[in-house]
Formats: sequence, structure tokens, C-alpha cells
Amino acid sequence: MQDETILSARYSLRTSLVPDWFKEIEMIASTDILALWAYHQKCGRALQRLQLDLSWIEKHYKKTTAVPWIFGKTRRFRCRCPRSDIIKLFDRKHLVWWEEFMEATFQALREEPCAQTVYNSVEETIEKVRRLDCRSCTPNVATVMHQFAELFAKKVEEVISEVKFVS
Ligand SMILES: [Zn+2]
Repeated sequence: MQDETILSARYSLRTSLVPDWFKEIEMIASTDILALWAYHQKCGRALQRLQLDLSWIEKHYKKTTAVPWIFGKTRRFRCRCPRSDIIKLFDRKHLVWWEEFMEATFQALREEPCAQTVYNSVEETIEKVRRLDCRSCTPNVATVMHQFAELFAKKVEEVISEVKFVS
């Protein structure tokens, strides 16, 4: 497979599955479109495994104290944001806004399976948490979420790079 083709295929992950492609459909052979489509879907599906098993977060941070903000446990001010009833990480109850961020991001990744999707979702969440006006979460959110975005985006890139493009 030529590098150029792989690069184009990777680039196509930044657009959602069908609508954008119709604009260029006349320029691409139908077999190539099918191959791109299959690749896109495979990447979207491959990323779901990061959602089903969050151990990549635990492996990276090793302990809760490295990511206290996910659990509303930062110093100084008490966080009153709601916590989730489902335990997914470090045997602790994480904050609902973080859970919603993860859900929304994985939903978006199905459509656009690329690192940029993570960065976009992070920016949306930063805005949302700023509006929560929590004395614990709000002042920190941009810093911690930008750091978390680096890890998340790196994992997305890793998974995508393992998916084979076949045409
Ligand atoms: Zn909070």
C-alpha cells in the first residue's frame, strides 16, 4: 500500500461517514469509496474497546491521586458536582460531567474516529464545566482536560494505527 493512500485514508477519518463524501464521490472510484468506508467503520469500531475497558487510564496515572479532578477530590475547595453511581476507574465514584464527556467523545469517535474529535470534545467540556461554576472543578478544568486530551488522543492514534486499510 502506498503511503499516500494510507495518508488520505487517515485524513478521511476526520469527516463523518457519508455526507461529506458525496461532494467528492465523482472523483473517486467506487471500489475506493467502499474501501474507505470499510476502513472508517473499522476504525470507529476499534475505538470502542477503549470505552469498554478504561484500564489505559489506570495504567497511565497509576493512582487516584494523579487524577483527583476526575473524582472531585482536588485540594482547597469542596466539589459539589454530582458523582456517578457506576464505578469504572480506581474503584472510585467519578464525576458525572467526566462520564458525560467520555460518553459524548466515544459517540463522536464512531462518526469521526480521529484525535481531532477528542480535542473538540475536550473544548466543549471545558466550556460546560466553566458554566457549572464549581469552586473545585471550574478553575482547573482547562489545565487538567488539556493534559487528559493528550493521553486520550494518543490512545486513539495508537488504536487507529493498528487498523489495516485494504483496498
Ligand atoms: Zn465540581
